[in-house]
Amino acid sequence: MKYIFVTGGVVSSLGKGLTAASLGALLEMRGLRVRIQKFDPYLNVDPGTMSPFQHGEVYVLDDGAETDLDLGHYERFTSGRLSRLNNLTSGQVYEAVIQKERHGDYLGKTVQVIPHVTNEIKARIRQAGSDVDVLITEIGGTTGDIEGLPFLEAMRQFALEVGPREVVFIHVTLVPFLSAAGELKTKPTQQSVAKLREIGIQPNILVCRCDHPLVDELREKLSLFCNVPVKAVIEERNVELSIYEVPLMLQREGMDDLVIDLLGLKAPPNPKNIWVEIFRRIKSPRHEVTVGVVGKYIELQDAYKSVYESITHAGIANNCRVNVVRIDAETLETRGGTAVLRSLDGILVPGGFGERGIEGKVTAARFAREHGVPYYGLCLGLQVAVIALARDLLHLHGANSTEFDPQTPHPVIDIMEEQKKIVDKGATMRLGSYECELTPGTLAARAYRKPSVRERHRHRYEVNNAYLGRLEAAGLVTSGRNPRRNLVEIIELKNHPWYVAVQFHPEFQSKPSAAHPLFAAFVAAAMKYRRARGDGNAPGARRRKRRAPARKSS
Ligand code: GLN
Repeated sequence: MKYIFVTGGVVSSLGKGLTAASLGALLEMRGLRVRIQKFDPYLNVDPGTMSPFQHGEVYVLDDGAETDLDLGHYERFTSGRLSRLNNLTSGQVYEAVIQKERHGDYLGKTVQVIPHVTNEIKARIRQAGSDVDVLITEIGGTTGDIEGLPFLEAMRQFALEVGPREVVFIHVTLVPFLSAAGELKTKPTQQSVAKLREIGIQPNILVCRCDHPLVDELREKLSLFCNVPVKAVIEERNVELSIYEVPLMLQREGMDDLVIDLLGLKAPPNPKNIWVEIFRRIKSPRHEVTVGVVGKYIELQDAYKSVYESITHAGIANNCRVNVVRIDAETLETRGGTAVLRSLDGILVPGGFGERGIEGKVTAARFAREHGVPYYGLCLGLQVAVIALARDLLHLHGANSTEFDPQTPHPVIDIMEEQKKIVDKGATMRLGSYECELTPGTLAARAYRKPSVRERHRHRYEVNNAYLGRLEAAGLVTSGRNPRRNLVEIIELKNHPWYVAVQFHPEFQSKPSAAHPLFAAFVAAAMKYRRARGDGNAPGARRRKRRAPARKSS
């Protein structure tokens, strides 16, 4: 077992998670068994209770753990499945320590950060990596933050205990370009490394985030001032096209060889590099489509991270560039607001909580149904599709989810019975992986090519089975259900080319090398729709001959 610790300096949002994930990918390619985990210094027990404005997406694991979105990168870049052991927060550390204290486990001692808190952290490092060759631990936050200190101290102690050649410290830092001076500046990095050395940690590798080339002179300067060999000063430029370029970039800098060397591992080079092919497909795809994502946190880059990534993967699988138009659901509630939907080849409504923007999402689900546009609903995206159906086809005036209208006369989406008694908000939803049985012959069964699958959940509300018979008579097809609890998991529509909505979150199980089958099928349906429209055969063809000129794409 070898250990890599990844810290960050100068500023947050440097892409430490991506760097850790990319290094994991490179080491896996060299035949090593790798696991990546994240330590977050904040006091929340998990990010499940944090708003997307604070924290971006909450990434859900098979075991139902609600975790930091960097775990999404780890699962997408490496083959390992992660568990709740792989995301540790200060909240969890203190919770464990205080529980032990109340239990009397400390035998009358004064309970302190050193050694009790640091011991708890070190135990988690050992526990998380017992069955792999290399454990990569990323520490959230920026060096110098008060709340990060116990984690850094624990790592210093850990390195001392296991001895040299067992641990590599990587510091990811910013080397900014100052336009007034016309050059890259190394001082912030020097100071950040000085801070680490003050704590007793000497980084072995510096990963320098920069938007200009890191010339030899600068590498030498960083080497000298930061006490790191020149070859261990790694340039990581801003990517232009895709995050899936990062493994290739780090490989060009020799990062995998460097780490393997430092840890004294034996790992022959691998001539087969899957990232070359992945990146080639992203760079020069043959086809192109435009899909809309209708959400509430649309201006936030990170709120639907896994959804956007899964769309990219589906593009890779279909040799297709997928332009994404981000649509704020509330704009669809205004007059003429739906005009933006007319230029789309597919509409996706992702998950969400709370009432704001709901009517806009219902409108999007209705628009797709009425205009034959491919529709893909995720969790809340299924619930709004059912609400639209009940109102429009069953004429159930005021049909709604009890989440948004507790007094609705027609609760077509309702809270699960066991959820009614729950008062705590943390980790109390229907969370994690559940079985879903597929109905043969449906779009879902054809996409998955399996009779049954497991998918990850994060929600409190469900389709109300009391309305299911009527909905099915009106054209809804239940194409997936949970066999144990008889819950609706996937719905489709008769007489629609591709209308699929799921109660779970497929975006948590998609990879660049293996797109999620439903995402891949959605993009394939969007391509078909666009082709048909171009031929003049599609339902949308008459309404829209030319492509709308103004379009936001990301
Ligand atoms: N708010 C809905 C529920 O709790 C949907 C949740 C989601 O989209 N993740 O059921």
